[in-house]
Amino acid sequence: MDAALNPLLADWSAPHALPAFDAVRPEHFRPAFEAAMREHRAELAAIVADPRRNFESVIVAFDRSGERLARIEALFYNLTASATTAALQAVQREMAAPLAAHWNAVRQDASLFRCIDDIWQRRRGLELDAEQQRLVERMHQDFVRAGARLEGEQRERYAAVVQRLAELTTAFGQNVLHDESDYMLELRDDAAAAGLPRFVRDAAAQAAADRDLSGRMVITLSRSLVLSFLTFSHHRDLREQVWRAWVGRGERPGEHDNRPIAREILALRREQAALLGHACYADHALADTMALTRERVWALLDEVWQRAVPAWERERELLLEAMRAAGVDHVLQPWDWRYWAEQVRQSRYALDESELKPYFALDAMVRALFDCAQRLFGLHFTHRPDLHAYHPDVHAYEVSGQDGAVIGLFLHDNFSRPGKRSGAWMSALRWQHRNAAGGGRSQPIILNNNNFAKAPPGEPTLLSLDDVRTLFHEFGHGLHGLLSDVGYNRLSGTKVLRDFVELPSQLFEHWAQEREVLQRHARHHATGEPLPQHLIERIEAARRFGQGYETVRYTASAIVDMAVHERCEPVDDIVAFEAEVLARRGAPPAAGLNHRLVHFQHLFSGSGYAAGYYVYLWAEVLDADAYEAFVEAGDPFDAPTAARLLQHIYSRGDSVEPGATYRAFRGREATLEPMLRDRGLIN
Ligand SMILES: [Zn+2]
Repeated sequence: MDAALNPLLADWSAPHALPAFDAVRPEHFRPAFEAAMREHRAELAAIVADPRRNFESVIVAFDRSGERLARIEALFYNLTASATTAALQAVQREMAAPLAAHWNAVRQDASLFRCIDDIWQRRRGLELDAEQQRLVERMHQDFVRAGARLEGEQRERYAAVVQRLAELTTAFGQNVLHDESDYMLELRDDAAAAGLPRFVRDAAAQAAADRDLSGRMVITLSRSLVLSFLTFSHHRDLREQVWRAWVGRGERPGEHDNRPIAREILALRREQAALLGHACYADHALADTMALTRERVWALLDEVWQRAVPAWERERELLLEAMRAAGVDHVLQPWDWRYWAEQVRQSRYALDESELKPYFALDAMVRALFDCAQRLFGLHFTHRPDLHAYHPDVHAYEVSGQDGAVIGLFLHDNFSRPGKRSGAWMSALRWQHRNAAGGGRSQPIILNNNNFAKAPPGEPTLLSLDDVRTLFHEFGHGLHGLLSDVGYNRLSGTKVLRDFVELPSQLFEHWAQEREVLQRHARHHATGEPLPQHLIERIEAARRFGQGYETVRYTASAIVDMAVHERCEPVDDIVAFEAEVLARRGAPPAAGLNHRLVHFQHLFSGSGYAAGYYVYLWAEVLDADAYEAFVEAGDPFDAPTAARLLQHIYSRGDSVEPGATYRAFRGREATLEPMLRDRGLIN
């Protein structure tokens, strides 16, 4: 293909240098990737050939290199996650190995590493500022962790392992998506929908319409639909069916079975860790975190686990009581939990999700996000309907700072649809830094993806409290990307240590629960009435109910993750291994866990969260402690506290060691108590 005709290789000339979404076709990617990889290799050769061998010619130049490849990759991964097609998936399978090989070759480039290593050795004498020192250290560590110090056969084997892992993790994610898209339960008549509130029926009708089954109702494995169905459906047998399909993702024998894939991933990770001199994969993963050691992770998980199980047992008592009162005498199974929890919630706290939902219209909650960002950080979000992304449901907003200058672009993609993976996440098409070609500022383009069930045309999409928290969570990540104010790409936005990365997102969830925010933004979509005071009080009273269940499910998943990644021996049967670990811990079967290994995408769709699922809890210790600073100040929008938060957390990226920057914000280390209290695990 003529490069001039490939929109991926042309200059991106749309406003904000957005990609030409309309013109990009799946067949453009392969030639574009190949050209961009060639260009990147040439840039790296120029770095090695540059006789200066100084910070500028090596470190700064490397940080700036590969810009074209990075932006094509960013676009590609955004499309494969949010708007994939069979053709894009084919490109994804085809390109996984060559791309991994390219990046591996970069990290294994011995002459390039010699240049970086040379600067690293001499870094203290180079008159670099603190951020530049940090850049040299992070960059050097990236290479060492990727095997740059290996030689000969070991080097080759390492490259082969990494390449194979890339193929396997891609297949793992596609298998989960396959099982999710493959399943649906049709509710054949009104009786089959018994118990489902209006918003669940609407979502089920919309899911049917998306599958060309207009006029019918289906339950798919979209997370919000599954959880709603399990919460409300009166049909225990149907709940069990949906629950089994949900927890069985990735475990069906045949070509989409994730068991052999996970087994091979684990074996390769053990080998990878051994090549780098670590006893197990967990040690390798944790060497690049705030926690640093398994002992510190286990200390946190053990502490929380021993408090979580009794909290769960107290909740179970309430559920059993409700079952007895209703004359139900069957065993409380995992597919019953949410249903009876909802009964308890309604009777004990009179909190009825369908009574609450009308106050939480998506549009109003998006306004709440922007309002909080304005009050805390002085940001303004301007909707730009003229800017088009990859799907009509994606809204583009121009973001400007206190002085009115535009600082970036925010793309909000809120609805679930076929071809979009489940879950919620933040990503970037471009990162903030001041190291663009010519020394210019690179403006961030940040995306938030959610998977809310879209209301029928003309009706507002209404969110559950859980959805609202997710919306705020991802927006916290988004702010971490948008507010980034660093010199170098490598240190930008959310490219921080992974047990720090959930601090800005989880911290932002706290504002979703603030009275002041609820009073202002949670208004009835039809009447405009504010959320009544008695409902606010009940939300607050009910907040801790269910925390035992959630904490057990989360911690159980984190425990399985650590256990499977600290093993030195092969894991022949991941299903049996998981069951064994849970049994040894006395994990209650009726609680289940957030993710079973067979579809645990955090662990196996990439390596980002392998031996790292604990990071949410680690960061929660930080976010609960950080929010206390506003509580102590007596104002959720206290200006001096917000200014410190911006300066030391949201704008810092990875330019400062996270422990140090946290202490700079808080004036001390974080303590465990606020997290335990928030979860109702201590009084
Ligand atoms: Zn997150």
